[in-house]
Amino acid sequence: MKSPAFDYACPTTLADALLLLASGKGEARALAGGQSLVPMLAFRLAAPALLVDLNRLPELRSIAIGSDGVRLGAMVRWRQIEDDARLASAHPLLVAAVKHIAHYQIRNRGTVGGSLAHADPAAELPGIAVTCEAEITAMGTAGRRSIKAGDFFLGPLTTALRPEELIIEVRLPPWPARRRWGFEEFARRRGDFAMAAAALYYDLEPGGRASNAHVGVIGVGDRPQRLMQVEAMLNGSRIAADTIAAAERAAAAAVNPADDIHATAAYRRALVGTMVERALRRAAA
Ligand SMILES: Cc1cc2nc3c(=O)[nH]c(=O)nc-3n(C[C@H](O)[C@H](O)[C@H](O)COP(=O)(O)OP(=O)(O)OC[C@H]3O[C@@H](n4cnc5c(N)ncnc54)[C@H](O)[C@@H]3O)c2cc1C
Repeated sequence: MKSPAFDYACPTTLADALLLLASGKGEARALAGGQSLVPMLAFRLAAPALLVDLNRLPELRSIAIGSDGVRLGAMVRWRQIEDDARLASAHPLLVAAVKHIAHYQIRNRGTVGGSLAHADPAAELPGIAVTCEAEITAMGTAGRRSIKAGDFFLGPLTTALRPEELIIEVRLPPWPARRRWGFEEFARRRGDFAMAAAALYYDLEPGGRASNAHVGVIGVGDRPQRLMQVEAMLNGSRIAADTIAAAERAAAAAVNPADDIHATAAYRRALVGTMVERALRRAAA
């Protein structure tokens, strides 16, 4: 199907983009990579009166790495993350997750802000943002505010963003050297959305025990979620075979997936346990 009719604007300043968005009174939508919005228009799942194209706003395209962590501008594309050699040490978990996103062509277009705003429960970046306690900066004509990733995703394709706000950037907190981490994903075909994925990390105390464990899962609920029970089990433990097996069981018990056209709830529950187990084995190695 073809898209419904819409007006189109391509501002060259952020201030103009925000004014245009506000002028739509809830009927305007940002256009970033178009990898989700354009199909939604074609399927008539969205019918905005105005599209505000963000592609000519260079201030949203930077990747900044500093003492406060990694800041990804909203218009940073997946390919840019893959190509930025600094991120291999500044945030290896992010880089590993992005490699699982879609195909080369889509990674050339899809953006950080688009993925966060679209809030697909099976998308990688929202999962990384929640696992890493990222902060999302939103901006409207009234000013900017910071939203914790854990408060940002409200359900499938639903976020705390107001209609007149744009995502400006997301900040991932600093990543210490020697942090242990793992990312594991299962999809039917390479590049498909995750049927389940696990993103996790922990720090090693001098005695060899884990601390600061963060365990997130993707694709097994209506939004990405952290598994606090599993984190509590890992903190203070040595990450060895028995802990990993217990974490696998605890992860499967902690999620509550629904049956859908791709898999039964029982299958997904088992799968998420396996993803956590593999990610922990990778981290421990
Ligand atoms: C075939 C296919 C396979 C894919 N597979 C995966 C996958 O495996 N994993 C994955 O994570 N993603 C996947 N994607 C999604 C893709 O990677 C993009 O992340 C996604 O399309 C959103 O980014 P975009 O830049 O294209 O956003 P758009 O499609 O332009 O916009 C999406 C939504 O976000 C809003 N928006 C965009 N930017 C902003 C902003 N700065 N502030 C506020 N709102 C904004 C738009 O208004 C719209 O509602 C896939 C897409 C396709 C087409």
